[in-house]
Amino acid sequence: MERIVIKVGSSVLTELNTIAKERMLNLVSLIVEARKKYEVILVSSGAVAAGYTALKLDRDKHISKKVLAAVGQPILMSAYKNKFEIFGIDTAQILLTEDDLDSRTHTKIFQQIIDKILENGILPIVNENDISTTPEQLFGDNDQLSAHVAHYTDSDKLIILSDIDGLYDANPADNPKAKMRKIVNEIKDEELTQEFTPNSKFASGGIVTKLKAAEYLMDTNKEMFLCDGYDLSTAREFLMDGIHNKGTLFSKKVKEQ
Ligand code: GLU
Repeated sequence: MERIVIKVGSSVLTELNTIAKERMLNLVSLIVEARKKYEVILVSSGAVAAGYTALKLDRDKHISKKVLAAVGQPILMSAYKNKFEIFGIDTAQILLTEDDLDSRTHTKIFQQIIDKILENGILPIVNENDISTTPEQLFGDNDQLSAHVAHYTDSDKLIILSDIDGLYDANPADNPKAKMRKIVNEIKDEELTQEFTPNSKFASGGIVTKLKAAEYLMDTNKEMFLCDGYDLSTAREFLMDGIHNKGTLFSKKVKEQ
């Protein structure tokens, strides 16, 4: 069975200071369906945003952000657990820092944990360990974290479900004529150094962190698919039917059109 990583962003999972239950349920159904064809690892953001649903602290302050993550991580996990339980699927929480993937010994332990969880039919749900780590130990955003997870678990593809539904040839926020790029084989240095802030105040990533994740994966001959996290039909078609209508596929294997 092919192995894939699905990454979902904070803005997809939360809405008006609550967990976006319907969107989460849609994601859960997509994962349940995808598990018929793939081994699935979920990387989920949303701990800080979920924490804010219970406690109104300033997420820009270092300690407050950690407290929000500490409060929010169990909220996020129990929301997932309740929904996956409907389908009889158990979940496992894995909180990672850069240190967990910084040596052969560490990555081997991580790989063995993931393999064992998947072998037992459990869904691994990974997030960054925002709580007890120093800034030097953090990836900082889940786009790059999920690319590392895809690489070290030998997954074939990373699917990013985001409030950014693809890569455009111009910024769609200020250029209505911006066109989505369907396939990308190469990312230019200037695209990786552009300034681009996240759309949601709870997200750490934006288009640049996604491009960095894509470049990291393409360098190791893996693929990344960036698509709409609100309407999952693009992701479903891509994963289940092999149809690529919308969304951007970053791949060195498929020719750019
Ligand atoms: N780990 C953070 C959280 O769960 C999100 C990081 C990101 O948005 O990339 O809240």
